[in-house]
Amino acid sequence: MSDLLQYVEWTSDATTPPVNGRLFVYRSFDEILAKHRDAISGAYGITARTPFFPYLWNRLWMDSPLSCERMVVLRAAFSDYCPTRWEKEGHLAFLAALDSCIQAGIAMNVSLSPPGHTDFGIKTIFPHCPKCKLELGRFFSAPDDDALQKCELCGTGFRPSATFSSRPDESTSFK
Ligand SMILES: [Zn+2]
Repeated sequence: MSDLLQYVEWTSDATTPPVNGRLFVYRSFDEILAKHRDAISGAYGITARTPFFPYLWNRLWMDSPLSCERMVVLRAAFSDYCPTRWEKEGHLAFLAALDSCIQAGIAMNVSLSPPGHTDFGIKTIFPHCPKCKLELGRFFSAPDDDALQKCELCGTGFRPSATFSSRPDESTSFK
């Protein structure tokens, strides 16, 4: 099985016991985000001088935990999203966790997984910014040019080879 995917891991202490889950989004979410542009821009401090797209998806999860204001705008945006069969369980759990956190006034921890791919039992992590997880490109072998890069989104400096890996996938889930 081949999978190209990235997920958001979320944890919340708002419930007893604390809960956590993974949000998988396989399709582009840009149309939904554009519909909520004003609210998202306000909550994330995106100004006219900061482009809304590209990289908005990475920006959503860059700072953790999420403030209440950000959870409220994400709740509205994700409520508009119609998940696929494979996304549904994580999507509903994420909405429920947002509700719990918003009601309890507790921030939610979020973390975007590195971008990658699994195929024929090999798990490849593409070179990416270690802070915001912005993908540098879909490399399936170690990048030749290993000059220090500066992330276009968050400005973090990193060497591509340090964030690339390709090894047997020992689990059925993508980590
Ligand atoms: Zn970055």
